[in-house]
Amino acid sequence: KFDKDFGQHILKNPGISDTIVDKAYLKPTDVVVEVGPGTGNITVRALEKAKKVIAIELDPRMGAEVTKRVQGTPLAKKLEVILGDVIKMPAMPPCDALISNTPYQISSPLIFKMLAMPNPPRIAVLMFQREFAKRLVARPGDSLYSRLSVNVNFWATCKHIMKVGKQNFKPPPKVESDVVRIEPLLGSARPNVAFEEFDGLLRIAFNRKNKTLRAAFSIKEVLAMCERNYKIYCTLHNIPIDESLADTTTVATTTTASADDDMDMDVDENDDNNNTINNGDEDQEDEEDDEDMPTFFKELKDAEAAKEAGKTPSRNPKSRVALVVKAKVEKVLAATGLGEKRARMCDQNDFLKLLLAFHEEGIHFS
Ligand code: SAM
Repeated sequence: KFDKDFGQHILKNPGISDTIVDKAYLKPTDVVVEVGPGTGNITVRALEKAKKVIAIELDPRMGAEVTKRVQGTPLAKKLEVILGDVIKMPAMPPCDALISNTPYQISSPLIFKMLAMPNPPRIAVLMFQREFAKRLVARPGDSLYSRLSVNVNFWATCKHIMKVGKQNFKPPPKVESDVVRIEPLLGSARPNVAFEEFDGLLRIAFNRKNKTLRAAFSIKEVLAMCERNYKIYCTLHNIPIDESLADTTTVATTTTASADDDMDMDVDENDDNNNTINNGDEDQEDEEDDEDMPTFFKELKDAEAAKEAGKTPSRNPKSRVALVVKAKVEKVLAATGLGEKRARMCDQNDFLKLLLAFHEEGIHFS
């Protein structure tokens, strides 16, 4: 009856549905979005507390089920069911609160979709598989620290609410779950940078999170992207390119040349976290289900894969502008003092400092 491909694990413990709704501190004026209402266990509780619930459901059978559940009751007029894939929707409906017993396949894209909203909800109470929830609250140096962890803690605050054993679901999933509360920063508290810019920088830094940032920014596809964006920026703002900078790149080019060759296990010898370091493959978990990955990052992934397969494409001779951009990148890394730091050890303030310094130099990531 339940479709595992849709991540259908129905909550059978009413106490947990109650807690999810209680911890959203709903007001009678709130519009709530629920992703994946299923048979409506959480939905009915939210309907009792809020002005309106917009339930987005992929499976039409479940959509019919939740509609039927409230039919003929005063709750019916507060419920709107949208049939479809929440991730494929161009935008999530504006709302005050987001709740979900999240289908595990969309955990990462759902969070990114919410954080990228220009006016995100005040609060989100979401159930995830435990490993995923741990990534949300991971700190620099933790083995699960990733692009997702930085984004969540930059754009929001995140708190663990409770553990949920697999026996609370029908059918039980393979792994345990956790409920977390995410409170996006709103209004003037929201960082004053574009989501795509901050995330674009993180994609580069976490492409191989155990490398130094200098190595991450020496990859030729990354430099080529910086160059493309820099040219666009200069054209848009009528800025002449200072080609004299090209003459200063000799040193930078030689010091970073070896970083072009991939060094997956680029680890400090006196780093006492060595035994928790992996080869960075887990970074890609964020990307695998990331349908909205910008073209450049797809190209970067393809180039990295080609490199790993030993099919390194031949290098083009560097243009003057490429050298200017290389000099600028080196200048930023030196000025921020972050060139030797590894993404896995940087906190969100390091990344913001880096982003603002790149912007100062006219270098953008989206
Ligand atoms: N909320 C119910 C509960 O707690 O008992 C069901 C939760 S079940 C884990 C996940 C629900 O999300 C299923 O009803 C599934 O059909 C739906 N779903 C899966 N992928 C979806 C998507 N991309 N967009 C919207 N709903 C989706």
